Amino acid sequence: MAGNSTHLDLLETDPLATGGRVFISTYGCQMNVNDTERMYALLEMANYTPVDSPELADVIIINSCSVREKPVHKVYSEVGKYKKLKDKKPHLRIGVGGCVGQQEKGQLIAKSPLIDFVFGTDNIDLLPSLVSRSRAIDLELPQREQKLVEAQFQHRAPYHVETLVRKPGVATFVNITKGCDNFCTFCVVPFTRGREKSRPLQHVLNDVRELTKRGVKEVTLLGQNVNSYQSECGADFADLMQTLARSTDLLRIRFTTSHPKDFNAKLVEVLERNQPKVCEYVHLPFQAGSSRVLELMNRGYTREEYLEKVQMIRRIMPNVVFSTDIIVGFPSETEADFQDTLALVKEVGFETIFAFKYSPRPLTKAAQFEDQVPEDVKDRRLQELFAAHDAQAMPMVTKYEGQILEVLVEGYDQNRGNLHGRTSQNKNVFFLGSEDLIGKLIPVKITKAFPATLRGEVVPPQ
Ligand code: SF4
Repeated sequence: MAGNSTHLDLLETDPLATGGRVFISTYGCQMNVNDTERMYALLEMANYTPVDSPELADVIIINSCSVREKPVHKVYSEVGKYKKLKDKKPHLRIGVGGCVGQQEKGQLIAKSPLIDFVFGTDNIDLLPSLVSRSRAIDLELPQREQKLVEAQFQHRAPYHVETLVRKPGVATFVNITKGCDNFCTFCVVPFTRGREKSRPLQHVLNDVRELTKRGVKEVTLLGQNVNSYQSECGADFADLMQTLARSTDLLRIRFTTSHPKDFNAKLVEVLERNQPKVCEYVHLPFQAGSSRVLELMNRGYTREEYLEKVQMIRRIMPNVVFSTDIIVGFPSETEADFQDTLALVKEVGFETIFAFKYSPRPLTKAAQFEDQVPEDVKDRRLQELFAAHDAQAMPMVTKYEGQILEVLVEGYDQNRGNLHGRTSQNKNVFFLGSEDLIGKLIPVKITKAFPATLRGEVVPPQ
């Protein structure tokens, strides 16, 4: 391929030798969205420019997710779409990161020669060097065997990463933990994200202070299970919340995801002490309404214990809004178990649910369980669950009509020609107003409620 050119000549004409344009395609949860932001930030520091479309890119990265159905197939299908681009631009590099990268490692490259490099969830910081090594390898050793894989877990390495956000808005996310030790029997996360690690409290505090200097007013603390956060100095999640509430200029603090078994009384006390700075919104996955199924899932709580946690939180935050994750059709789930799930949805009164059909994941225990529930039964249960939730959700949001709610104004929505922001309960509100309100907490009277958003008008100062 090099003809008479030297490697130096090629490097001089290669767009990647002096950086290049990068496009990242992101799947999955907020952790992945945050990881994508980190990848872009790292590549920008290495002289790469983010672009909005794969057609414009010299480097395409697929930040994959393995939680939903057919994850590996999704990666191959996206890579396949880039074949024509690669034929046109042989210097185009295609990499796969995220949970599928971690899980499949070199097998991805073995099955798809279009992929140049694969990296795992613990190897994001190697990305700039991987891209340039990938290019160098292509110049010297074009054989497929020489393609790159970096997917080792850094089990012993401390979780010392700085928050990298290129253009933080009014509200942003800050990772506090990564990985998970819980091994719920349906979940692949402990295998794709590794064992749980927490960032030192002082690092999180420094990052948040830095972000507030850059205009951030609200952070959402992020982890697979934030409630089991444990700083090396001995501070737990409640201590972290207390420190951030007391020692930063944040107007609001949110956190996700919570695990019911680790949501303890000490944290509830801290939430109470720091109202209204701590938002009245808790995402508390229950997954199944039957204690028998919860045990099979290895969730570490019963239906009754879950409801006790809900009541404990409601006692100190009467206006709290709960959302949740639910799985239907877990192996051996009977009709009676499913009715328990429906009843729990009704009893707690979730404003939002994220519900999915169970599907087996490699490496997980439940994938080996006999008694898998037939697909048509799962489909029917999922539809029933959504219908039951829809029936209860609308009255829950129409109650906001006529209320005056405090909204943190996050920005201007060009498409709607409106300002937008969120209430403490995480409701998106749209309203007319001037852009100098962005970043402020203002009272908004709700004039109309829709299933996912609210419309309102700014209440003028008295
Ligand atoms: S708590 Fe369970 S569901 Fe959540 S990430 Fe850990 S193993 Fe997965």
